[in-house]
Amino acid sequence: MMAPEHVEVIRAWERDPEVRADYRRHPRGAVLGRLRRLAPPALVRAAIILTVEHLSSGRPLTLPDDVAEIYLGDPSAFPGAACDRCGYLMPVQAEVRPDGAVAYTGYGYLGPCPVCEGHPDNQGGIDA
Ligand SMILES: [Zn+2]
Repeated sequence: MMAPEHVEVIRAWERDPEVRADYRRHPRGAVLGRLRRLAPPALVRAAIILTVEHLSSGRPLTLPDDVAEIYLGDPSAFPGAACDRCGYLMPVQAEVRPDGAVAYTGYGYLGPCPVCEGHPDNQGGIDA
């Protein structure tokens, strides 16, 4: 489970009038388009992407505290390094370009997969 203060970051973003208006204007909008328009904080962006990837691809859905802290501390952290064993998207450093493409700029996570710990050297396959 996520820590209450991390959940509150996401809830506060969802209450933002600009965000609510965007969801009304684009109720079925593509996720990357919404992320580009609204530029949410890295933790919110990660929660949205992890949820979408869980629903579409069955990847594990979790945001443990130590991983959430990475997103809180690094605005460029992006869930983009898929664990080879379980598929969980671990944070790497990346930026979303104006055309919606995701450009990876470096590694942002120095630990094993928080779901299965299948990668003690942390360098899982990059799911670009
Ligand atoms: Zn894993």
